[in-house]
Amino acid sequence: MPETKPVLIAGAGPVGLVAAAALLREGVPVEVLEAGPGISQEMRASTFHAPTLDMLDDLGAAPEMIRQGLIGPRVQYRTRDHALIAEFDFGLLADVTRHPYRLQCEQFKLTRILHGLLREQPCFAIRFDAPVADAHDHGDGVEAVLEDGTRIAGSWLIGADGARSAVRKAAGIAFEGFTWPERFLVLSTDFDFATLIPGLADVSYYADPEEWFFLLRVPGLWRAMFPVRAEVADDEVMTEAFGRARFARIVAGRDDYPVRHRTLYRVHQRVAETFRRGRLLLAGDAAHINNPLGGMGLNGGIHDAVNLAEKLARVIRGEAEDTLLDLYDRQRRGVTVEHVQRQTIMNKKNLEAATPEDQADFRRRMAEAAGDPARAHAHLLGMSMISSLRRAAEIT
Ligand SMILES: Cc1cc2nc3c(=O)[nH]c(=O)nc-3n(C[C@H](O)[C@H](O)[C@H](O)COP(=O)(O)OP(=O)(O)OC[C@H]3O[C@@H](n4cnc5c(N)ncnc54)[C@H](O)[C@@H]3O)c2cc1C
Repeated sequence: MPETKPVLIAGAGPVGLVAAAALLREGVPVEVLEAGPGISQEMRASTFHAPTLDMLDDLGAAPEMIRQGLIGPRVQYRTRDHALIAEFDFGLLADVTRHPYRLQCEQFKLTRILHGLLREQPCFAIRFDAPVADAHDHGDGVEAVLEDGTRIAGSWLIGADGARSAVRKAAGIAFEGFTWPERFLVLSTDFDFATLIPGLADVSYYADPEEWFFLLRVPGLWRAMFPVRAEVADDEVMTEAFGRARFARIVAGRDDYPVRHRTLYRVHQRVAETFRRGRLLLAGDAAHINNPLGGMGLNGGIHDAVNLAEKLARVIRGEAEDTLLDLYDRQRRGVTVEHVQRQTIMNKKNLEAATPEDQADFRRRMAEAAGDPARAHAHLLGMSMISSLRRAAEIT
């Protein structure tokens, strides 16, 4: 291997550790620099799509994820009074994936599992309490500068350091897009909504012009996500009374579910102007962020990491010119804009469609797609991000 220094990865989140695992599989040494004191315990993402599970299976992480997660075979769209608009069965994807379902599993489980798999490997190193503050591309190598001034040399640097990426800023890469005026409130409860709502799928989206929401199950908990108008103060949103009022909109007369977690998120749609500048590379939230409707942010980040690691390993082994990494940018940035951003914005607009005509149109399209196996298959290819991966593979 011509390059002897490790690939540096800023961030031991799910995308950074997938990139590390995929590079190690190719025999490339890595050193991960993580700002926090240990592996993050964040819940945030909980939906893993079929092709992502296929990739995680190839990296040895899927069986344990499946053991710790919950298999969601169906997804539903409903109206606020619980009438079923449409139901899709992921089993229809059995012809194109080894995992024809959504896995509901919090993202901290993935990072814990990956760290467990990686830490014994001889070419893997990780530093905690190591926040990257700056990064330099010297043409034949890179240097990451930590907040305390420590300088760490590497061959390439992958910025997988989340939405506020220091690597992206050091590379001078703009993060274009917009922020939604409303915030998203996530309330988790161990009350089982399936006992109140007959036939409820583990993932159910509720369309409503006044207040759409979704219900999603993870092991031992249900998570409900609601939009919150811009004019309501954060302090008020985080009160028990506010949570109860939101819960009361799910099933009339019931608001007494015990809240186990309460988190308020500001939500953005942004894509980095490039995923590569010289030897500085971006993946995951450092490169793109979107609203959580459809569960595409982390899945897309994992698709970035796997795509990038394969190409970077070839460049490092001297099998390809470094221009191969421009193809990484074209493929992954291309489908982030064409598919992930477009789809997540559309998912939100569909659920919140304001006029009766638009709501009716959305319901009709969903019901028709669910009722026709060929259209349902096509819908599921998009929803599970198989279409976006196929499109990326076509980009040259
Ligand atoms: C409510 C909600 C629900 C979501 N649900 C889903 C879902 O179901 N499916 C899905 O696909 N996506 C979902 N997402 C998006 C998903 O959470 C993110 O896309 C995902 O966390 C991105 O992973 P990442 O590794 O790129 O970044 P992060 O998870 O943000 O990890 C970044 C890591 O880098 C570290 N770090 C930060 N700065 C530095 C620095 N300067 N130096 C070194 N280390 C640093 C951090 O400590 C962290 O460990 C959801 C998001 C929200 C808000």
